[in-house]
Amino acid sequence: MEIARDKYNFSIFWDAFNVFANSPVCTSKGITNGSWYTLKGGCENFDICASCYTGWVKSVKMTQHFVPRTVVAPGAALMCDFNPESSRFVKYINKYAEAISTPNFAVFPDYVHRVATLPICQTTEFVANRRWWILQNLDPRKTVHVCESCYEDAIRGTARAHILMHTPAPLTEACMCEMYSENMRARWTTLAEAKNPDIEAFVAYCQHRNAVYMQTVPPMKAAIAQARLRLQQQQMLNSASTFYNTANALTAPSMQVHYGASTPENNYLYGNSSVGYNWETPYGVEGAVLGQQALELVASGMADVAMVADLEKAWKEVE
Ligand SMILES: [Zn+2]
Ligand SMILES: [Zn+2]
Repeated sequence: MEIARDKYNFSIFWDAFNVFANSPVCTSKGITNGSWYTLKGGCENFDICASCYTGWVKSVKMTQHFVPRTVVAPGAALMCDFNPESSRFVKYINKYAEAISTPNFAVFPDYVHRVATLPICQTTEFVANRRWWILQNLDPRKTVHVCESCYEDAIRGTARAHILMHTPAPLTEACMCEMYSENMRARWTTLAEAKNPDIEAFVAYCQHRNAVYMQTVPPMKAAIAQARLRLQQQQMLNSASTFYNTANALTAPSMQVHYGASTPENNYLYGNSSVGYNWETPYGVEGAVLGQQALELVASGMADVAMVADLEKAWKEVE
């Protein structure tokens, strides 16, 4: 609409409206049997859906740089690369904005061709069987690893990109990328632009960061996995507790309970020393015991919450 108003051409708006109304919605789950567009000349693993093509491409008159994708596997759900949930959305849109606002549109297809088929950076996960860009040292234990995607985004074209080497083949050992965070990218920029770069100090920082990682991230992930498990158990206990409470309420009338002070002739209430003696049937006791267990689970998780917060803080300081 903004574009239509700026150009005093409302047919753009109506054309776009027509396509939006008649095309599948661009969702984070992908689109099955949709119409797709890709870069002119073709590009593997780069697809824009009909709605995004209309909104992002047609409306700004950039159609000459794109072509319809003719071969799409029938029945397969494809994810649109201009969907905000797609993994490279922010980078693609920033490059696209740069391309359409300068006379040099090539920056966009050049970038897309370089990265579209590269594996997405797994940040704090160790991954095996990938190619890496490595900063090799005399001590191989101090090798710095940069994933292929982060190399394209942060290192290619910088003054000291040449000090990293592309592994000729995927490494079987699992490695973690050390160049996805703002902190590391800023440190790289400083190193790359320095007159007398202190590569030793850069590597030493990476070593320190890796040591902090080992002390914080794995225990944090374990605690979070435990918390998830606890939540599932707590939900199960709560629903079982509700089941027994209902059973107690339904069967209590037939137990002919006499309420009032617990006297020898009035001693019909069930319970135990931990939950008290308050129920007309054993079902009620079971419900109370399970409810208490659910509460204890919540309480036992509170210490972990504090621990995770401390670990996260320590990791974020160096990440
Ligand atoms: Zn889309
Ligand atoms: Zn990376």
